[in-house]
Amino acid sequence: MEPIQEHEAVKKVMRVQEPYKKVNRAFHPDDTVIVGDGFTIGDKQLAVMAGPCSVESEEQIISAARAVKAAGANFLRGGAFKPRTSPYRFQGLGREGLDYLVTAKKETGLPIVTEIINTEDIDLFVDKVDVIQVGARNMQNFALLKELGKTKKPVLLKRGLSATIDEWLMSAEYIVSGGNPNVVLCERGIRTFEPATRNTLDISAVPVVKRQSHLPIIVDPSHATGLWWAVEPLAVAAVCAGADGVMVEVHENPAEALSDGKQSLLPEKFSALTQKLKSAAALMGRVV
Ligand code: PEP
Ligand code: MN
Repeated sequence: MEPIQEHEAVKKVMRVQEPYKKVNRAFHPDDTVIVGDGFTIGDKQLAVMAGPCSVESEEQIISAARAVKAAGANFLRGGAFKPRTSPYRFQGLGREGLDYLVTAKKETGLPIVTEIINTEDIDLFVDKVDVIQVGARNMQNFALLKELGKTKKPVLLKRGLSATIDEWLMSAEYIVSGGNPNVVLCERGIRTFEPATRNTLDISAVPVVKRQSHLPIIVDPSHATGLWWAVEPLAVAAVCAGADGVMVEVHENPAEALSDGKQSLLPEKFSALTQKLKSAAALMGRVV
């Protein structure tokens, strides 16, 4: 390092050991704020993404969109293409589901966040969706990440089921180094030896990521725990730990939900949660 430092044209030399460069805070000290069509992620405004696990019908998603908006959400989530562990489970409504999300957006004005599972669908998603979600199971689908890097669409990159923070940031690096700076990270729980919850929410990932990277990070306590009653305390904890937002599954009839009913909040419960988030946000100098 020293001979480089001594050259008159060199102002500063930094040793960067992490393999990721573009997403590294060392090269980009200011927080990244993602600016979409009518929304921002990563500034004072907390991102509150809510909605059902799956889009089940046009009526269901419009009604859920109205309910989550009334309760304080500023994004609508809902899966149209579902990456299910079992091939025998509901796989989502596909393109039809995407169109229902677009209708729900027209009805409520809420920007939509939904998961992509196939590289071939990128143009369709760029056209119809506000934030493209890459699910935990596709965090290291490098072909998909490279193609998303060629777009400018905000990408919500979930942490892989057993991914380290470095591996997760390397996946973000694939997208950003491809030319798309608009990446939001989402901690959604990791596999541990503890069976009491579906996964273990790694709340430490929030301050660690904030230190290592300038990208915004949100937390999904629904997939982290698999238990509706654990969602509220962990959503509050996530905001207090410095997260830029939360993603929460909400369903008007969890017992009949086609996926993830056990972790879905009723709209009333979600409304109580957003009230608590207001206090947590205020504590952290943010607003809901
Ligand atoms: C989801 O958000 O619908 C989902 C499938 O989550 P994850 O990829 O975190 O399991
Ligand atoms: Mn789900």
